[in-house]
Amino acid sequence: METDEGVRRMHLVGGNLALDFVNTRTGPPTGPVDDDVLTGYPGLVAWGVYAGALTDTEATAMRQLSRTDPDGAHAVFARAQRTRDNLDEIFRPLAAGASPSARALAQLRDDEADALAHAQLEGGSTFGWAWRDDRTLVRPLRPVAHAAVQLLTDGPLDRIKGCGGCRFIFVDESKNRSRRWCSMDDCGTAEKIRRYVAARRTRATR
Ligand SMILES: [Zn+2]
Repeated sequence: METDEGVRRMHLVGGNLALDFVNTRTGPPTGPVDDDVLTGYPGLVAWGVYAGALTDTEATAMRQLSRTDPDGAHAVFARAQRTRDNLDEIFRPLAAGASPSARALAQLRDDEADALAHAQLEGGSTFGWAWRDDRTLVRPLRPVAHAAVQLLTDGPLDRIKGCGGCRFIFVDESKNRSRRWCSMDDCGTAEKIRRYVAARRTRATR
């Protein structure tokens, strides 16, 4: 499926599920978005599996549900886009050292309340929220909202950064906090080439 391919070409560089969700739109660091890998509800489900938020079994159930309730799936996809806008409004200012709006935070609180209302506590080495029994179309969005709240409450907020070459946001987990690019293979390489060309041009005009 074409939507799945678009999703699988993505690099999961955010270090947090909510940031990876924000990073489903590509483009320059500022200004308009130039592409969106989420093209509909099936793409949202494919992304959920790819990003580790859904199991294959859950994804199959979601796809079946969306076929029996296409209007519902359409509505949830619109909600997914609003959720992503809202997360963008929270984490992009934080990456720039600014505060997110109270309105965006209140929306996330509502999303988290909804997510936890559909979750159960599951035991392991510690207990954690799980959505194993959630068989509703909104299921893919619930761990995303929760990951956003976890990042806001646990941090590290001062390690949330925006890529220097594109609109991706990530948690800088490098030892010396020196990460500047979403990925060395993409924007890091583009920057190296840009510098190389600029240096050559300088030499040529000398
Ligand atoms: Zn980048």
